[in-house]
Order: sequence, then C-alpha cells, then structure tokens
Amino acid sequence: MKLSFTDQRPFIIAGPCSAETEEQVLTTAGELASTGKTHLYRAGIWKPRTRPGSFDGVGVAGLAWLRRVKEETGLAVCTEVATKQHVYEALKYGIDVLWIGARTTVNPFSVQEIADALAGVDIPVMVKNPINPDVALWKGAVERLQKAGITQIAGLHRGFSSFGDSSYRNPPRWQMAIEFKQALPDLPLFVDPSHICGRRDTLAEVAQQALDLNYDGMMLEVHPSPDEAWSDARQQITPRTFHDLLGNLTVPQATSDDPSYLHSLSALRGQIDEIDEEVLTLLGDRMRVAQQIGDYKRDHNIAILQPSRWKDLMEAAVERGAQKNLSETFVSTFLKAIHEESISQQSSVVRGG
Ligand code: PEP
Ligand code: MN
Repeated sequence: MKLSFTDQRPFIIAGPCSAETEEQVLTTAGELASTGKTHLYRAGIWKPRTRPGSFDGVGVAGLAWLRRVKEETGLAVCTEVATKQHVYEALKYGIDVLWIGARTTVNPFSVQEIADALAGVDIPVMVKNPINPDVALWKGAVERLQKAGITQIAGLHRGFSSFGDSSYRNPPRWQMAIEFKQALPDLPLFVDPSHICGRRDTLAEVAQQALDLNYDGMMLEVHPSPDEAWSDARQQITPRTFHDLLGNLTVPQATSDDPSYLHSLSALRGQIDEIDEEVLTLLGDRMRVAQQIGDYKRDHNIAILQPSRWKDLMEAAVERGAQKNLSETFVSTFLKAIHEESISQQSSVVRGG
C-alpha cells in the first residue's frame, strides 16, 4: 500500500542527515522503528554541500542500505534527489518517497528535470522551500510536479538563508510558509526544525510553534552519535532525545465542532474584524494628513524625508508600544510600513503637483 502523508497527524519523518555507513543507517532505523513514532525514515545519499571537499554523500551504495531498512524494520524510506539520474536510481531501489532540497527548489531547470523524470510514476514527493524567501518559486516547484502527474505532494519548510547574525541557521519567516499554505491549502505542510535551528536546544520550540500553526508534520535529523556525524552534527539528536522531544510536544486539534467553542470563537473574531476595520479607517485618515503635509512641503519646497522627525516618532512609538505590550520589532516593522506608504503618497502629491 502506498504511503499517505495524511494517514498520521502529525506525520513524522526522522533519520540521519546523511547515510554514512550501513551500520549507522540500520542502527538508527532499528531504534526509530522500535519507538514507533516514525512514519518515514530519511537519510541523504547525495548531499548538496556549500563548499567542495565536504562529505558529499555515499551515493548509490546508500540506496541498498535504505532498501535493507525497509525490509528489516518495515519503515518507509525517503531520500533527496537533485537530478534525473538520482530519480532513476532511487526508483530502482524502491525508495518510497523523494524530497527536493532547498538548493534545488531554487532552480526551475532542475525541478523540471526531476518532474520529467517522474512523469508516469506517481511517487509521493516533499518539496523544501527554496533557500531564498520566494513563495512563488516554492509554489512553482509544486506546480511542475503536479503537471507531471504527481498526486501526493507535501511542502517542507526548512527556513530561509539570511545575511547577518541570527539565532537560527535558517530563520523560519513563518509568514512565508503561511502564504504557501494559503495558496495551496490542500497540500500537507511539514516543518524541518533541524535545518531551521541548526542546533539542538531550540528544536522543540520550533516544532511546537509549527504544531500551534497547524502544520501537518515534521522532519527531524536523528543520529546515533550526533557529535560524530559527517554532516550537520550540531543539529542532530539521538533517538532517545527525539523520543523525548516528541513526547513533550502538545498537538492541538486542527479544529473543533463543539458549539460553545464555535460560538465564543465567532464572538472574538467579530471583535477582531471590528478592530481591524477601525485600524484601517485610522490609517486612511493618517494618510490623508500625510498628503496635506506633502502639499505643504511642496508649496514651501521642502524635502519629503525629515530624518530627525522620523527618528523621534519611532522612539516615541516604541516606548508607547512597550507600555501596551507590543514588541519593539513589531512596532518598528509596522511604523516602517506606514512611513513607506506615507512617503510614497507624499511623493505622488509632490510629483503630481
Ligand atoms: C537535508 O535535509 O539534509 C538538507 C540538505 O536540507 P536542505 O535542502 O533543507 O538544506
Ligand atoms: Mn542536514
């Protein structure tokens, strides 16, 4: 029977970042199978590494190890494919599910090559988000597979590359994944806390956040001795830690049809809708005043952007926001968006005048 991404909720994919040795692949699988929490076993055979000279996977030899995992533990298995050759080899060895990695999703030529190689083979495929924050590119990859006749596709959210300091290896930018889910509501959406966090101590937090956002499952990198892993050592966890991590998660129900719950929810949503309406009205009023200032500046030939005024305004807002329990990040992001719109409206007044 073919594996279904929606048979289990949350759907759990676990296994090492890379297949290293036959023993490591089989030991990890044996331990995961015995705890009964894993629905799909992962191991990378072909590894896309940032720099040459790193361990780039055991290649085809690892496929035979995954086949042994299937035979000996009964676990379904998956691996990453990046070329048509990978697809053909994986299919030859009876791999149950394929995934497209973040560095491949960015490239429509590669995704199309994989989709073409899969035409007529309806195997489940997981599509990681591209490394750059581009939801259209992520959706595009899904559409290429759909056009090739693949019927079971899941999105796999592994975070996005970023420049500069971050406590994440790949910041999640949850809003991107929410947009992806809104555009493709029927696609299961999984999270990959391992590649988002890049470290062990924050995995549980990200996993829980995803469940709270109604994700359908997750992929976690599990290794018998994580510190000695040949790739992604810092983010891998032992089967024991994996077991505890899953045990400590709270899995909320997707929804409920309890009438009193629905009644209270709809009252609260009514309040939110009214407040949003007021916020929009106020923003419209604010923009009208900004336009008047634009007129005034034009008449007196004054530059639109006044950095010192902007600085004072931002500082005051952050302070007032803090009193209302609003984070500095939120207040400054919100005000920057308002300011941008305000400048653009003032510019059109000045240019149009
Ligand atoms: C992986 O899953 O090990 C991997 C290479 O991930 P990503 O494509 O998200 O970097
Ligand atoms: Mn990895």
